[in-house]
Amino acid sequence: MDIGILALQGAVSEHKSCVEKAGMNVIEIRTPSDLQHISGLIMPGGESTTLRNLLKNSGLWKVIDESDLPIMGTCAGAILIGKGVNETFSKIDMEIDRNYYGRQKDSFEKNILVENKNKFKGIFIRAPAIISIGTKTKPIAWVDDNIVGCIEGKNMALTFHPELTDDLTFHELWLEGLK
Ligand code: GLN
Repeated sequence: MDIGILALQGAVSEHKSCVEKAGMNVIEIRTPSDLQHISGLIMPGGESTTLRNLLKNSGLWKVIDESDLPIMGTCAGAILIGKGVNETFSKIDMEIDRNYYGRQKDSFEKNILVENKNKFKGIFIRAPAIISIGTKTKPIAWVDDNIVGCIEGKNMALTFHPELTDDLTFHELWLEGLK
């Protein structure tokens, strides 16, 4: 299976190494034609306003918006596949609020609770927060009682950065769902 990683901005090489460790081939996505043979797309963190502009200018926005390509969005990527005050792809029925915890200095690490597992190192960098989820959206990760990860169909949104850890739990979970 070929997995695309949006390579316009953000933690591209880190996601690439996770996907390769999980045994898949990676294609870096910069133009609409790059999307042709991939089975899923990872949208990395970065800065959602910048990512939105780069996606629009490259022509990728329209194609992704109109496709059913499964997406894993982390941090800024999660903002773009959820629903917020600014334009998004709305692939997952969840309200997500950017920069919820404050500025860069308010970035933090906290243990995440995952189903079937007691902990996962959660790295939150100027993270957004999931404010609410729809009835078809399934929560998969929590910090205290707050949802920090969810899936709807083959789309997954995480407010943290699993690619900055050595733990492939979330990448493998998403990739498993694509088979
Ligand atoms: N705060 C950024 C935004 O609003 C997201 C930060 C990140 O992706 N690490 O887009």
